[in-house]
Amino acid sequence: AHLDRIAAVDGAVHAFLHVSDEAALATAADVDARRAAGEDLHPLAGVPIAVKDVVVTRGVPTTAGSRILEGWVPPYDATLVERIKSAGLPILGKTNMDEFAMGSSTEHSAYGNTHNPWDLERIPGGSGGGSAAAVGAYEAPLAIGTDTGGSIRQPAAVTGTVGVKPTYGSVSRYGLIALASSLDQAGPVTRTVLDSALLHELIGGHDPRDSTSIAEPLPPLVAAARQGASGDLSGVRVGVITQLQGEGYQPGVLARFHESLELLQRAGAEVVEVSCPHFEYALAAYYLILPAEASSNLAKFDGMRFGLRVEPTQGPVTAERVMAATRGAGFGDEVKRRVILGTYALSAGYYDAYYGSAQKVRTLIQRDFAAAFAQADVLVSPTAPTTAFKLGEKLDDPLAMYLNDVATIPANLAGVPGLSLPAGLSDDGLPVGFQVLAPAKADDRLYRVGAALE
Ligand code: GLN
Repeated sequence: AHLDRIAAVDGAVHAFLHVSDEAALATAADVDARRAAGEDLHPLAGVPIAVKDVVVTRGVPTTAGSRILEGWVPPYDATLVERIKSAGLPILGKTNMDEFAMGSSTEHSAYGNTHNPWDLERIPGGSGGGSAAAVGAYEAPLAIGTDTGGSIRQPAAVTGTVGVKPTYGSVSRYGLIALASSLDQAGPVTRTVLDSALLHELIGGHDPRDSTSIAEPLPPLVAAARQGASGDLSGVRVGVITQLQGEGYQPGVLARFHESLELLQRAGAEVVEVSCPHFEYALAAYYLILPAEASSNLAKFDGMRFGLRVEPTQGPVTAERVMAATRGAGFGDEVKRRVILGTYALSAGYYDAYYGSAQKVRTLIQRDFAAAFAQADVLVSPTAPTTAFKLGEKLDDPLAMYLNDVATIPANLAGVPGLSLPAGLSDDGLPVGFQVLAPAKADDRLYRVGAALE
């Protein structure tokens, strides 16, 4: 049914870069046979899933939205893909994204735009617009995204879906094409909070192949979602972050946000206001740390090892000239912008002023979170300042594009988990996202509060 739905609507939505019909049908048939034989299967066995194209899949093309990886077929699976396969979820295919996950609209993909299923003239968010649009358009019931600064939560917000960025280190990064290694986390995109909890428990947990993987087991997420679904939040303290509301936020977004706060109060939660004074510097710090790490991670795309190789049309064929020609042709403008920014910020003489200062701000943001979580069990804000904007509207203005991430970036800088869930429609008829943040390793709180709001 989902493959039929993809065939019917993906021409207009363009959520997928690659559809794996045969493999998906084979997995579904295998699960049916095992179920008929009485085998005890995972609760998600047989439920199809779409995977963002930044996650490597053995034998299935993986491009990260870039020309430089066009035609590359990975020889191995990411850990999370192994877990999905062993639980028997048919993988429908790979979803569109901003090139190397740099962007907030999926317009930086080298393979064309994805369209928001609510209004095809509008962006589906980014960088994981393909995963969110696939779920929002009923092409897939579940999807995998990655979130370095908001790329799971912001697309979820603007497509009316649920998206979760787990605690840093709780879902293995083995087999993710790295953007910024200290910020990247993979997580679920679904239509309900309980579905996210089920998928999060499946893909999360310790992995010896990721050196930053947390050794302890995950807290019980599905149980927390079931507890929250009872609608009782008595004793839960909810902190509204002063700095992530008000100026710059669309009135319809704020109206839905305040209605959700009332729902929390009616469920018995105590709502308090908390101040995170350094959050106003989060965006600036992020746009130094991210390009610095990305410029280093992307150095491996050199025309020698993976995908595209372009030789200079004239003059000697040296390694350096092949590298320059390949990267010149293979990377898009946003990737080049960030590689240049990152190498500049890391260069001798500027390192302390830029990268060093940004790391200090990162520490201040972590301290803001620690102080806020001393006053509240979870923190809340709108996920994004506006609803989905028109395709093309912010494409020529990188700073306007970066501002979409003001509310999502602090969680990545501090490594704490965050969830976005639908909070109704704004006056323009477009979905609004409500963000819940919890302390590191307390992802269960996201599910308890999220399920109570659903
Ligand atoms: N929009 C942010 C950026 O461009 C977030 C990216 C992400 O989370 N992958 O960096």
